[in-house]
Amino acid sequence: CFDKLHGSLGDCSCNVDTIDYFNNVKIYPRIQSLVRKDYFRFYKVNLKKECPFWADDSRCAMRYCHIKTCSKESVPGYENGYENEEHIDESPATKYSKESQSNCDSDTDHDPDLGYLNMTISAASQHEIAKWKAHDDALENFCECDDKDVDAEYVDLLLNPERFTGYKGPSANRIWRSIYQENCFRPKANPYVSFPFVLTSDLSNMCLEKRVFYRAVSGMHTSINIHLCSKYLLSEKTAAFATSPEGEWGPNIEEFQNRFDPSQTFGEGPNWLKNLYFVYLLEMRALAKAGPYLEKEEYYTGNAVEDEETRDAISNMLGVIYSFPDHFNESSMFNGGSQAADLKVEFREHFRNISRIMDCVGCDKCKLWGKLQTQGLGTALKILFSNKWNSPESDLHLTKLPVRHKSHERLQRTEIVALFNAFARLSDSIRQLEYFRIMLSTQKEDS
Ligand code: FAD
Repeated sequence: CFDKLHGSLGDCSCNVDTIDYFNNVKIYPRIQSLVRKDYFRFYKVNLKKECPFWADDSRCAMRYCHIKTCSKESVPGYENGYENEEHIDESPATKYSKESQSNCDSDTDHDPDLGYLNMTISAASQHEIAKWKAHDDALENFCECDDKDVDAEYVDLLLNPERFTGYKGPSANRIWRSIYQENCFRPKANPYVSFPFVLTSDLSNMCLEKRVFYRAVSGMHTSINIHLCSKYLLSEKTAAFATSPEGEWGPNIEEFQNRFDPSQTFGEGPNWLKNLYFVYLLEMRALAKAGPYLEKEEYYTGNAVEDEETRDAISNMLGVIYSFPDHFNESSMFNGGSQAADLKVEFREHFRNISRIMDCVGCDKCKLWGKLQTQGLGTALKILFSNKWNSPESDLHLTKLPVRHKSHERLQRTEIVALFNAFARLSDSIRQLEYFRIMLSTQKEDS
C-alpha cells in the first residue's frame, strides 16, 4: 500500500518524498509549536447553527463528542478589543493567566454591543459601509463565516483535540455522500462505480479545476480519518465520580489499514493518501502567497512578549515555506475567458455549500474540527483564487501599510486562526503517516 506512495503526486510537479522530508523535518515542529500560542488556540465558532439541508436527526449524544467552550473573558486580549480590531494599550486587567483556563467550559455570554467598530463617522454611514464591505467580502469568500453570530463561542482547541469520537453510521455517511455526490464536481458516470466512489482513474476525464476541487476535499477527508486512527480510543477509564470520561488514546494500525489498504478500498486508499499531500501543497502555497501580508499581522493577545514571539515564529516558518522548491502553481487554473470565470463562481459556490454542510455534522467535536478545517481550506482557496489576492505579488508586500495592521483588510482573525490550524492538521497527518509506515514495517519484520 505505502510503497505506492512514492513518486509524483499528479496535477503538480512535486512528489511525495520531497514533501515527506520537508514537512517532517522543517514544517511539522514549527507549525505545531505555533498553534499552541494563545493567538491560535482560541477559535470562535457557532456550533448551534441549524442544518440548512435536512432536519437535524442526530443531536450529539456521544460522550466523546462533547466540546468545552470558553467564556470570552478568558480569551487573551478579548477585553482590549481584538474583536473590534481596535485594541488599545495593554492593561493588567486583560492579561491572560493560564489559570483562566478553568473558564473554558460551557459558559456562554453574549453581548451584541461588542461587535461594533469604534469609528468616528456617524452611526448611519458606519452601518452602510459595514453592509457594503460585508457584501463585497461575501462575494470573495469560499466559506460562510459565523464568528459574528450571537451563538458563536470561543473554543480552546488544545482542550478539545481532534481524535476518535465514534461518530459514524448514517449521519456521518450522509455528510460525506452529500459532499461528494452533490457538491463535488463528478466525472461522467461510471456504470461500475456507485456512491461514494470517484475512481481516481476517472478523474483524468475532468478539467484541472474540477480535479483540484475533488482532491482538496478528499485530502481533507483523509486527514480527518488519519487523526481518528492515530488518536483512537484504546481503552476507557471512567472514574467513579468523574464528570467526563477519560480514555487512553493512541494509534490503531488495524483501523488505519482498513481505511487505506488498497484491498479494502477498491485500490483507492493510496490515492486518498496522495490527496492529503495535494491539499497540503495547496494550503502551503496559500501561506506563501499571503506570507508578506501575514508577516505584517499583529497577532494581538494583549501579552506583548507572547505576541512578539508569535510574530517571530510566523516569520521563521514563512521563511522556511518560501524556501520550498516546488510550490503548487495556481496560475495554471481558471484561464480562458468567461467560461473560466463561470467555473470559478461554480467552484466557490460548491465550496460554500460544503461549509454549510458542516452545520449538519451530528457530533460537536467533529463539527468543530470539520468547520475549522473547511474554513482553513476555504481561506486558502480565497487567497489563491479571489480577485483581491490576485494583484501582483509585489503588491502584497504592503509597503504602503503601517508596520503592523490594525484593520483587517484582507483576512479576519478567525480566518487566520483557521488557516494555520488547518495546515497544522495536514502537517500532523503527514507526520502520523510516517509513524504508521514505521509501525507497519516493524510488524512485518516481526512476523
Ligand atoms: P467514511 O470516512 O465515512 O467515508 C465514506 C465513504 O467515502 C467511504 O466508504 C469511501 O467510499 C469514501 N472515502 C473515504 N475516504 C475518502 C477520501 N479520503 N477521499 C474520497 N473518498 C473517501 N470521526 C471521528 O472519530 N473523529 C472525528 O474528529 C471525525 N470528524 C469528522 C468530521 C466530519 C466533517 C465528518 C463528516 C465525519 C467525521 N468523523 C469523525 C467520522 C469519520 O470521518 C467517518 O465518517 C466515520 O469514521 C465512518 O467511516 P466510514 O468507514 O464509514 O467511511
